Amino acid sequence: MNGGGAIQNGGNLVIQNSIFLRNQFPVAGGGGAIQNGSIFDAGTVSISCTLFEQNSASYGGALLNVNGSMNVFNSMFKNNQIAGNPFSDGGAAHNVSSTLNLSLNNNYWPTWNGAIPIPGGDNPSTPGQDTINIFVTVGNVLAGDPTGTANCPNPRPRRVAPTPDQELLDYQIDLVTLAGSWDSYLNDLLAGTRNTAIALAIQSIGNSISTDDSPIATFRRVMIGNGPNLILERDSLTNNTVCVTTGDIPKIECGTGNTTSQYTITHEYGHLFSYRTGQQGTGSLVNRMSTVGSSVKDFYPIIEERWVVFGVTTRDSRIGSEWYRGLFGWGSGAIPWRSDCKGPVSPTSVPTNFQQNPCDIVNLAAVDPNEAEEASADMFLNWVYKILGDGGFLNKTWYAACDTNINSPQCDDGGRQSGDARYQWMRSQTSATYAANSSW
Ligand SMILES: [Zn+2]
Repeated sequence: MNGGGAIQNGGNLVIQNSIFLRNQFPVAGGGGAIQNGSIFDAGTVSISCTLFEQNSASYGGALLNVNGSMNVFNSMFKNNQIAGNPFSDGGAAHNVSSTLNLSLNNNYWPTWNGAIPIPGGDNPSTPGQDTINIFVTVGNVLAGDPTGTANCPNPRPRRVAPTPDQELLDYQIDLVTLAGSWDSYLNDLLAGTRNTAIALAIQSIGNSISTDDSPIATFRRVMIGNGPNLILERDSLTNNTVCVTTGDIPKIECGTGNTTSQYTITHEYGHLFSYRTGQQGTGSLVNRMSTVGSSVKDFYPIIEERWVVFGVTTRDSRIGSEWYRGLFGWGSGAIPWRSDCKGPVSPTSVPTNFQQNPCDIVNLAAVDPNEAEEASADMFLNWVYKILGDGGFLNKTWYAACDTNINSPQCDDGGRQSGDARYQWMRSQTSATYAANSSW
């Protein structure tokens, strides 16, 4: 094994009053913060009054002992985790052999909620985090953070505010660059991620059995689960101005020609949400949208004069009935794309903040999968910002004849409350999805 995201020791190492934060060794190997020893030499490590937080590795998210002896005491382990390998082990610490000593006595384990960490066992309150390999010895457990107490009188080093890519790691998101750069998009990635997490957390309250409705925990639970981190990748794509989401990896790729706004990334999270809801066996968001038929209507006061907001409708007597995304109720206007809708296909196509992919395919007597998929991602995007009171669904419509500002529709929808109808449908669907998924 090769490793040691911060330190690899082959001698005699003593550490006191320190912080190891977000060190990583994601490939095969380990010791996100510290590896002791190698196959060639043994080391001795003694650590006290130190915080290990959010370190990750394939073996031993914080500590890996390959050869020699490690003792850690009066320290704190928080949210360290294994990463990137299905056979990996030891979110906090991994010891490769029962003949070696890795002793963790008198430490504080907040993620275990006062329980004694079980070597080889998973943590029921935060699965996959701060777990311990079977060859690790765990002694007495402290009731609180020892740093700053009589055991550790020297002040702990001050933490600095995380950078955007460090904060994204809190959400289990890894930034990868294969072409171009994410640098000028970091604040947008962060804004879209924070907003999505807050919306998911608000919806979670009262709908989830989890006791942790914090935005970060909810985002991880709903969008990632126990799988590998979500990858946001900047790359050269065949259609280089768009982003593409792959649910099962999971990964969002954006071409170097894509202007990735907070709305773009939230739309892509909509694709991921649809995939994740489908994985839970309760029906994906896109499937729920596809099967509404003509039942999602606006709230016009005269019932028999209500129109279909989205779903199966006869919008043109010459072509008969078909499923469509609808033109009313979105948070911004759009000139729809009317080809195969996998990206901008016409110079007149205009994606806007709240219609990132206004795909409109005339497909008689059938639901076109592309149109429904893109509509579901835009519905998620509008739902996120509507919950936050920062945009999203409007009781408006947009068409050039009455309005020149496509990003801020001013044309009233004639008392139909089409935005309210979309929002209410999304609230009921997401509520039902949480209720049906016991792991959410
Ligand atoms: Zn899309």
